[in-house]
Amino acid sequence: MFRIGIGHDTHRLEEGRPLVLGGVLVESERGAEGHSDADALSHALTDAVLGAMCEGDIGLHFPERDPRWKDADSLQLLSRVMWLAGERGYRVVNADATVMLERPRLRPYIDEMREKLAEVLGVETSCVSVKAKSGEGLDAVGQWQAVTAQAVVLLEKT
Ligand SMILES: [Zn+2]
Repeated sequence: MFRIGIGHDTHRLEEGRPLVLGGVLVESERGAEGHSDADALSHALTDAVLGAMCEGDIGLHFPERDPRWKDADSLQLLSRVMWLAGERGYRVVNADATVMLERPRLRPYIDEMREKLAEVLGVETSCVSVKAKSGEGLDAVGQWQAVTAQAVVLLEKT
């Protein structure tokens, strides 16, 4: 049996914050604002896994008001959700994600993101796709005010 899930996440960009995407620190003058490490890519993937299992969303499992998740490593949050997936008898088949960020260009970081995410998702790197797009100078992404990520994950009952 297969289950598919979708995830979407947005974080505001601010100077003086680190920019972490897929567990990789990206060199940038502006970083993502948020309660955990504000890793939009990991959050979108986490929501996609939860969505595939109909297990609510990341805010339900890791409430912002909970001090345990302040500056939390989002790969660890994804890892906790993968533990839940394992408990339910699911494994990841593949994942596909798009990060929308005006700058910097993410191409130099993409393979490291795929490797880190694949390790947490328990699959080969060839099963995790990360794509990057800019906002073409439009909307909040295009104005370099936000980073957005979308993800889909396919789970299989083992
Ligand atoms: Zn987030």
